[in-house]
Amino acid sequence: MEKRIAVIRGDGIGPEIVGQALDVLNRVAEQFGHTFTYADAPMGGCAIDAYGSSLPEQSLKTCLEADSVLLGAVGGPKWDHVDKENRPERGLLRLRSGMGLYANLRPARMFPQLAGASPLHPDVVAQGIDFMVVRELIGGIYFGEHRTESVGGEEVAKDVMLYSTHEIERIARVAFETARKRRCRVVSVDKSNVLDCSRLWKKTVVRIAAEYPDVELTHMLVDNCAMQIVRSPSQFDVLLTENMFGDILSDEASMITGSIGMIPSASLGDGRRGLYEPIHGSAPDIAGQDLANPIGTILSAAMMLRYSFGMAAEADAVEEAVCRVLGAGYRTGDIWSQGTVKVGCKEMGARIAREIKR
Ligand code: NAD
Repeated sequence: MEKRIAVIRGDGIGPEIVGQALDVLNRVAEQFGHTFTYADAPMGGCAIDAYGSSLPEQSLKTCLEADSVLLGAVGGPKWDHVDKENRPERGLLRLRSGMGLYANLRPARMFPQLAGASPLHPDVVAQGIDFMVVRELIGGIYFGEHRTESVGGEEVAKDVMLYSTHEIERIARVAFETARKRRCRVVSVDKSNVLDCSRLWKKTVVRIAAEYPDVELTHMLVDNCAMQIVRSPSQFDVLLTENMFGDILSDEASMITGSIGMIPSASLGDGRRGLYEPIHGSAPDIAGQDLANPIGTILSAAMMLRYSFGMAAEADAVEEAVCRVLGAGYRTGDIWSQGTVKVGCKEMGARIAREIKR
């Protein structure tokens, strides 16, 4: 297969971790007989410096013309003073909405080799953690009306949570399709004992579930879900939820697996093109020192292979390579512990690439 990938290296550690993910993709191409070509799309602080905009039109065009997009991270203290509308993070929001990405997929997966890094009790970790949070990304309270006004001599603020049926239908389908590629179980998370949005959510999810008789659907209130993630995470396969609940639960879910440097994500819309990025930021404190953990970005590239290109065997090969390198005891500084071998970003990436075999 031939695929064209838009590459946003970004700021801070972005160029370092993306470089390693591209080496991994090149190795996949070589082993499996594919051709990947890359088109750079400057975004973030580096784009402000070079073009005066955090997301130049040409970069958006490059992303829209590509089969998929790989992103490192954007932002840093150098651009903190930039006006709100042109902040590096603003470029990211414009990119997500410009590409129509309404579904955010974040795996919470514990590599057994890193079990000691989880803040959870070892008995809980021993049961295994491997679930996917499917979060609605461009609706709900974050995108409703926000207003602060003066009423009767005091300030009153309001934020409107709004969902329409079609927004729930499309994210529900993403969750059911995702479950079909995993263990065929969806837990839909809501607050239907209080919120109308949640009642519409639940009713719509139940209706869409009828299209997926092979997938088991259950429901959970968000407060209970927050508790269950730390009490018994092994019970989950796919967690489906709206924007704000998903924002909070997905951070909770990533924390229980150990380091922020390990976790990938995918943002998807209609069609197969997606935006793939690690969940962490540009880590300016360690930028340019060969200290960054590239695994979150490498696993994001694996998600791209699986979800955008339909290359399941290739994605498995990347994930297995990561497991083997961790199994052999190699660690970047953020996941290092006594008895393991500390390596830099480049060496970690090179070792993973070498382990990828057809
Ligand atoms: P951060 O995620 O960049 O860093 C938090 C801590 O985790 C730091 O100590 C950092 O060294 C460490 N860390 C992060 N990624 C790592 C990796 N791959 N390997 C090893 N250690 C890693 O969060 P922050 O410091 O709050 O933000 C820094 C900048 O990144 C800010 O400008 C912020 O706006 C931006 N940011 C960008 C994104 C994005 O591009 N999607 C996301 C979050 C934050």
